Amino acid sequence: MAKKNLCNKCIGLCCRYFALPIETPTERDDYDDIRWYLCHKNVTVFVEDGDWYLNINNKCKKLSEKDHRCDIYDKRPKICRGYTVDDCDSVEGEYDYELHFTSDKQMEEYIKVKFSNNITEKKKNKKKKKKRKE
Ligand code: SF4
Ligand code: SF4
Repeated sequence: MAKKNLCNKCIGLCCRYFALPIETPTERDDYDDIRWYLCHKNVTVFVEDGDWYLNINNKCKKLSEKDHRCDIYDKRPKICRGYTVDDCDSVEGEYDYELHFTSDKQMEEYIKVKFSNNITEKKKNKKKKKKRKE
């Protein structure tokens, strides 16, 4: 199907979320902040081309549920005007995220694995301290 015809058959998927860039996490606490984002309803976090994004799955109030068209089309914000079907991967499912977190549990596991060396290190240190006390 030609891409330009996709919108006619679409329920306005691009108007049902927005994504904001967030700082790239480096420290354990940064990842824990992201875990907190993920504790909230309708929030996911994804990484694309190395950049991290907070994704909020929340429908725009201006999207009509009757015909899935914009109620303020002539006055729609600049960001909507700049988005064309050429930018759209929503319909064809071409998303190519490096990472996509959909729950706080996933992030918890990710943190465990990512920082597992530190955990081992801390355990070792604890043992050393214990030995000194004896
Ligand atoms: S740009 Fe993509 S997601 Fe938006 S209405 Fe068109 S086909 Fe649907
Ligand atoms: S203002 Fe219109 S075009 Fe922009 S997100 Fe809302 S419904 Fe979509």
